[in-house]
Amino acid sequence: MEAEAGHAAMYTEALVNLDTLKGSAAKDYFVCTVCGLTVANIDFEDCPSCGISKDEYIKVS
Ligand SMILES: [Zn+2]
Repeated sequence: MEAEAGHAAMYTEALVNLDTLKGSAAKDYFVCTVCGLTVANIDFEDCPSCGISKDEYIKVS
C-alpha cells in the first residue's frame, strides 16, 4: 500500500511539472525596445541591461 501511494504521488508531481513546463513554453515574454534584452518576467523597475524604465518593454506572444 505504501509503495503504491508513493508511486501515485510521484506521478502527480510529474504531471504538475509537465504543466509548469508547458506554461513557461507558451508564456509571453518581454523585449526591451532600447537594448533588445528579452525577459520572461519584468521583476525590476529599470532594464538591468541599459537602465531604461520597464515602461519601454513591449510584450511579445
Ligand atoms: Zn534595455
